[in-house]
Amino acid sequence: MVRAIVGANWGDEGKGKITDMLAEKSDIIVRFQGGSNAGHTIINDYGKFALHLLPSGVFYNHTTCIIGNGVAFNIPYLKRELDSLVAEGVPMPHILVSDRAQILMPYHIDFDAYEEERLGGKSFGSTKSGIAPFYSDKYAKIGFQVSELFDEETLKEKVYRVAEMKNVILEHMYHKPLIDPEELLKTLHEYRDMVESYVCDTSLYLHNAIKEGKTILLEGQLGSLKDPDFGIYPMVTSSSTLAAYGAIGAGIAPYEIKDIITVVKAYSSAVGAGEFVSEIFGDEADELRRRGGDGGEYGATTGRPRRMGWFDAVASRYGVRMQGATEVALTVLDVLGYLDEIPVCVGYEIDGEVTRDFPVTSKLKKAKPVYEILPGWKEEIRGITEYDKLPEKCRNYIEFIEKELEVPITMVSNGPKRSEIIYRNK
Ligand code: GDP
Repeated sequence: MVRAIVGANWGDEGKGKITDMLAEKSDIIVRFQGGSNAGHTIINDYGKFALHLLPSGVFYNHTTCIIGNGVAFNIPYLKRELDSLVAEGVPMPHILVSDRAQILMPYHIDFDAYEEERLGGKSFGSTKSGIAPFYSDKYAKIGFQVSELFDEETLKEKVYRVAEMKNVILEHMYHKPLIDPEELLKTLHEYRDMVESYVCDTSLYLHNAIKEGKTILLEGQLGSLKDPDFGIYPMVTSSSTLAAYGAIGAGIAPYEIKDIITVVKAYSSAVGAGEFVSEIFGDEADELRRRGGDGGEYGATTGRPRRMGWFDAVASRYGVRMQGATEVALTVLDVLGYLDEIPVCVGYEIDGEVTRDFPVTSKLKKAKPVYEILPGWKEEIRGITEYDKLPEKCRNYIEFIEKELEVPITMVSNGPKRSEIIYRNK
């Protein structure tokens, strides 16, 4: 049985906690896209962790965690993350790395930073983890597959060939230090030694696991609105954030994904630049940011303050639809308990017309939010474990959102801890 857990919004929906909960009941957890550019926050008995590359699931003895072929695989980052877990007392997790995963090269990180610098005020607000240069190279067919680390002759030839090309840009466009191919080759040898014991044909491994009836969790990063096809292009990430891509990025048949749990946040937040129709500013935003998440809404990877906004039903319904959600987990609802009234964006006004359908970016730029105001419940809801025990106005808010999303909300998260979850029947 394969399940995907993905985000409907701009990321930071609280997928980490839900994934951690579900990981406990899974045999295998797979990262299928992205790299170390986004963070999941997980709080458990070992402490509080921000995972960037490792799948959530590394805290359990019974699970196997896979870095799938779709990932931008930063090898030293994996080692660092594993070392830091072990240093905190977490038992060494069981990790497998796809032999078809591609390697995030040191120069990808450099190019990411150089390009942001070159763009100046028009930059993407990249996390500078090298993700965009990595995927560009993958599809330009000059990326390095993990399997290539084990074929010295081909590796050497390719390192020289790629360095020659990269150095033209480094010299003439960015005016930065050049790549020394011998040095790079040495680094790749170190990478090979770091990763060798984890590498296998993970697609075959998953195929056999599915046949044996194992429970598999595909763990998405970011959310629908950051998808390169369906998000707020070009202010998106460079690999697909959709559950459908889980099949490709893990190497399994698409029809095996039976359940698509889509995480939706009870209000909006976003990092980086890009369209954000229900964004709020000033004191109103500061207060929500301060109260939001667990100790404030600041990026898990960058520490940057997140942009804040009210719940956007237009964007979220679209986000849920593009994921193919079979059920929704609504998160961080407890944060809204301080508000007398809660605006919900139910439409976009574009050129004098109101629409409920999420448009392309050029139209999105012109969209103004149309709000419906819901009454707040003015109560602390942390600690409540049964849906019926929630204040009526809080249930009304949930059910209003559920109607807007057109997909059942089966879980309501009312606190950062794993136990702070309310289940509802479909
Ligand atoms: P992800 O990128 O989707 O995994 O999101 P994060 O893991 O960065 O989650 C965002 C923040 O919200 C983290 O600090 C979580 O601990 C916190 N969080 C998750 N669920 C809840 C919740 O229901 N209530 C509160 N108050 N915080 C939550």
